[in-house]
Amino acid sequence: MIELLFKRKNFYPDEYKKTVFDINFNDLLKKGIKNIFIDLDNTLIPYNISEADEKTLKLFKDIHNLGFQVFIISNNKKGRVKLFADMVESRYVYSAQKPFKSGFRRALRKVGHPDPKTVCLIGDQFMTDVLGGKRMGFYVIVVDAIQRKSEKWYTKYNRHLEKKILQRLKRTDKEFYDRLNLQEKR
Ligand SMILES: [Mg+2]
Repeated sequence: MIELLFKRKNFYPDEYKKTVFDINFNDLLKKGIKNIFIDLDNTLIPYNISEADEKTLKLFKDIHNLGFQVFIISNNKKGRVKLFADMVESRYVYSAQKPFKSGFRRALRKVGHPDPKTVCLIGDQFMTDVLGGKRMGFYVIVVDAIQRKSEKWYTKYNRHLEKKILQRLKRTDKEFYDRLNLQEKR
């Protein structure tokens, strides 16, 4: 089991929110966060959409106005990631290969290797975003996937592993699991 290859703590996000719009970015500033690394597919847009809507454009404006360095960090291909990142005027890393560290390191290099504690990673998957972010020592917020239906086979497989991890989390650390208050059936 892949979960045994990594420390269990690496699957513990710091916060759970239903959507990216429920995240309090002012609070993140107070926590000392200066860099926002955010996943694209099913965190910001579903797989069948490629452009940012008005609400998302405004969200990014607000995040930038608060002074954060923002990166879209996606395992998807350049064309899709660049199109979206350009719309929201943010930098990006494509083919990031989360949960491995190389993609995150590409972004960290561009902002001068900040303390990992100043980075908040936001994403919808435990096997790529949470695991990858925690291995880097980031503050991690997990959100519900926007739309599960269109996920590819490997994401479906990751969801299967994710379910097992969450079941174990519930069994072994009920207090943390309850505190996370996951609303979606994962
Ligand atoms: Mg995603």
